[in-house]
Amino acid sequence: LKEKVWHAHYPDDIPTSIVYDEKPLDSFLAANAEKFPKKKALYFMGKEMTFAEVYSEAKKMAGYLQSLGLEKGDRVAVMLPNSPQAVISYYGALMAGAIVVQTNPLYKERELEYQLNDSGAEFIVCLDVLLPRVTNVRRKTALKHTIVTGIKDYLPFPKNRLYPFIQKKQYNMVVQVEQSEDIHVWESIIKGSSGVYTPVEIDPKNDLALLQYTGGTTGHPKGVMLTHYNLVANVQMCQRWLYKTKPGGKILGVLPFFHVYGMTTVMNMSIMYGFEMVLLPKFEAEDVLKTIQKQKPTMFPGAPTIYIGLLNHPNLKKYDLSSIDACISGSAPLPLEVQEQFESVTGGNLVEGYGLTETSPVTHANFIWSKRINGSIGVPWPDTDAKIIMEDGLEAHVGEVGEIAVKGPQIMKGYWNKPDETENILKDGWLFTGDMGYMDENGYFYIVDRKKNMIIAGGYNIYPREVEEVLYEHEAVQEAVVAGIPDPYRGETVKAYVVLKPGYEATEKELNTFCRKNLAAFKAPRIYEFRDELPKTAVGKILRRQLIDEEKEKITES
Ligand code: AMP
Repeated sequence: LKEKVWHAHYPDDIPTSIVYDEKPLDSFLAANAEKFPKKKALYFMGKEMTFAEVYSEAKKMAGYLQSLGLEKGDRVAVMLPNSPQAVISYYGALMAGAIVVQTNPLYKERELEYQLNDSGAEFIVCLDVLLPRVTNVRRKTALKHTIVTGIKDYLPFPKNRLYPFIQKKQYNMVVQVEQSEDIHVWESIIKGSSGVYTPVEIDPKNDLALLQYTGGTTGHPKGVMLTHYNLVANVQMCQRWLYKTKPGGKILGVLPFFHVYGMTTVMNMSIMYGFEMVLLPKFEAEDVLKTIQKQKPTMFPGAPTIYIGLLNHPNLKKYDLSSIDACISGSAPLPLEVQEQFESVTGGNLVEGYGLTETSPVTHANFIWSKRINGSIGVPWPDTDAKIIMEDGLEAHVGEVGEIAVKGPQIMKGYWNKPDETENILKDGWLFTGDMGYMDENGYFYIVDRKKNMIIAGGYNIYPREVEEVLYEHEAVQEAVVAGIPDPYRGETVKAYVVLKPGYEATEKELNTFCRKNLAAFKAPRIYEFRDELPKTAVGKILRRQLIDEEKEKITES
């Protein structure tokens, strides 16, 4: 097999190789604040900030952190929803020489404590409503300083005055933060800090910018070590893919920045290339529709469940979504029907891409304005090599299924303090993704499923994705996930969890007939469960593992 087989034919205007900037990620904010200080950098619930303003506040944060004793390489946890503070803390921490530890605001105390201890973070920036959670674990970790901010800190008048009442209604609490030696209030940092900080020497290829935790659905999360160079390179690749987007490009920030996908494709992309980002603190379908109509974003990176949520909103037709031009869907398979419907509603392009936390995250995508293949994750990105390794350790030929391995400038340095786990996944620069797939003769890749999702029922191998695709083709199905659950006779059996579209009905019998018409009998689900919603991660990936664990618990209890 020749190495070149693995490279697809790129259109002439997209390079297969890029010269990557060996600069710290935060240096792009400084450069752009100088180049176009007045350009809008972000929009958040009525508040607008320019590049100069974001930079000025990030400098204050950097100076403040250093005044608290922060030194190069110290870890700063950021536990915030998408907001100006999330951008300012992240860039401020980097400017001070810190490593950012992104922390999911939904984490419960146990998860938070684990992550703080594993990363050794001494600083945390959190939302005021999360302070009780942080306070409860603080003494059991290395945390020295907590910086607290509230959504209202960036709301324009009179929203800032009203917000505490909304908060009280929502959380049944008003948070009053006392300033003490180890608790610091955002407002006084931004108002009180001079903005003077000591620049730190960074070696972009070796120094870490980020510890991004992953693996939470399969056990204890691991900290993925991403360098400045990894993150900068992946954004440069994104830019080459999206460079043709409409002028005045704006990116919709629904994907959370505490996940690597939103962080790279929205936040870092905007800061590095001067796009405005339109921030939403959480996914509420109608809020997203309203925001698109009003703010007119052109780019919208998302995940299938996000697009599905919008398409099934009863008021969808009331909104004008025609500003949308380019969207990449990642993190889970994109059902064809969703892709087609979303494109017809917006008139824009929606293509599928692929990646992992360990790869900053993007490694593959379809071309947006050139040949794409529906159902495929597209081609490897510039300077990204990909190969497929079969069970016998040999490289697959075209069409043969094996584990996908990738290599390129966006691949992580390793797992934080976990050399054995790093060795298992990273070999000679190749990252073994744990995803099974194949490549066609034109260099387009297809995901069959995650290696560990494979169901073995009665001796047959079944990939849930194939079954889910069939379920999605049924007109009444809004969401479906298929899992292998323990079965005394078949070892495992196939169970489907289904959410029906509003106003539609379907019985188990109907779905079963439909599946059996489209799938070999051994693959068809034997059990169906209808639910109002499915458990999901922050980026909308359905938590199959949680469903399997629920089944196992039921068995143990009975
Ligand atoms: P995470 O590290 O949370 O970003 O999850 C990475 C995993 O998401 C990959 O290893 C894949 O299993 C899955 N994934 C990402 N993109 C896709 C896609 N387009 N199709 C199927 N699975 C995907």
